[in-house]
Amino acid sequence: MIVTRFPPSPTGHLHLGGARTALFNWLYARHTKGKFILRMEDTDTARSTPEFVESILESLRWLGIDWDEGPYFQSRRFSIYREYMQKLLDSGHAYYCDCPPERLESIRKRAMASGGKPKYDGKCRDRGLKASQDTVVRFKAPLIGATVLNDAVKGNIVFDNTELDDFIIVRKDGTPTYNFVVVVDDVTMGINMILRGDDHVMNTPKQILIYKALGADLPVFAHVPMVLGHDRSRLSKRHGALSVLAYRDMGYLPEALINYLVRLGWSYGDQEIFTREELIDKFSMERLGKSPGIFNPEKLLAVNAEHMKLASDRYLAERLLPFLSGQGLTLEDGPNLESVVSTLKERSKTLSEMADAARFYFTETVAYEEAAAEKFLTAESARILRRVVQQLETSPDFGEKALEDAFRAVMEETGLKLGKIAQPVRVALTGKTASPGIFEILHVLGKARAVGRLKRAVEFIEGRSS
Ligand code: GLU
Repeated sequence: MIVTRFPPSPTGHLHLGGARTALFNWLYARHTKGKFILRMEDTDTARSTPEFVESILESLRWLGIDWDEGPYFQSRRFSIYREYMQKLLDSGHAYYCDCPPERLESIRKRAMASGGKPKYDGKCRDRGLKASQDTVVRFKAPLIGATVLNDAVKGNIVFDNTELDDFIIVRKDGTPTYNFVVVVDDVTMGINMILRGDDHVMNTPKQILIYKALGADLPVFAHVPMVLGHDRSRLSKRHGALSVLAYRDMGYLPEALINYLVRLGWSYGDQEIFTREELIDKFSMERLGKSPGIFNPEKLLAVNAEHMKLASDRYLAERLLPFLSGQGLTLEDGPNLESVVSTLKERSKTLSEMADAARFYFTETVAYEEAAAEKFLTAESARILRRVVQQLETSPDFGEKALEDAFRAVMEETGLKLGKIAQPVRVALTGKTASPGIFEILHVLGKARAVGRLKRAVEFIEGRSS
């Protein structure tokens, strides 16, 4: 069974790159009917906060990324790390070192001066020191040979072991270091597939050596290229990239964000739009890209617009609610929200755009845009609107057929084309010159509201001309 994981450090909100990594792992687990584990890498106690933990969990929940185990917290697993440290000490793969900082500093300076890489010289390797207040624990790295990373995305990468040194796995204060805890966690959690950003490639040889020292099976490693901004530098706010929750608050659909992020590093022919189910069904490691995805906010917006069209009215209505109440609108006395949504989903790129566009439906007294009123609420329109009112009031229902008949009658009475009649009606109903189709709006508003608005527009015109 495939076991994947997502191990964010709760030192910030979940950003697009991290979300994409989580998605890849989640999709692979779901595709293979495996397991997806969530782990908080919160050993940096100075920068990790419960608020960021909560924000990451909320982001994942919103994206619909569910986990089968966890969240585990590294900060609560120190006894496990101690146990594994002891294993490595007992098997001769680690040793205590009491070299003082001054000595290490002078090694570093010497290496820098000669243009070399600062490496610990192994002084304490065979001294058989016992633990004391002044000791760190170092990993005994091989002095010769090579460590090979057989990467599922990048192919074989060979690291010369002479590049490595005996790195510290437990600090003087007893806290374990990053590469060590990652391996202990991945081994003890049974992770057999590590898919992460290629900023971690350089950590991998150290991690492979720890696996070997523990006698543990290596997982499959897959390092995906990072997401970049338009200038091909690492993605940041500068490129208009925000946190996952910021996209939620701007009215993006989780399906759209997922679709867009997955496509930034994975492809399936020319297909651009995928439902969540399709992604689970089609996701495979072979189709992960070797070149970095470039973040494009306009493309993301376009993908969102597509998903708005695909979504059911009920789903959109549910998601739209907080945006409408955010606008201070009360929905109780207004038209049916799902019907409202059905008239707007083809025209709105985000939920927040949709909420703006839906305003007029829920405003008792629509405000007329000045230019619209000037042009379309004229004395002549008053005559047209009165006739429309007459027809609609006697109309048997507000179905498509009945509305068509009503407007045809007004066209015949006035000799005007539909467009001439529709524009004043539109302004009377919505206050604006652009809106969904007139018949759709009338249908959704229903007779009483629609007729009320038309009459009010007539009064508005009369009040202005008297
Ligand atoms: N905590 C690491 C990060 O946020 C992930 C480490 C890993 O995937 O091995 O970059």
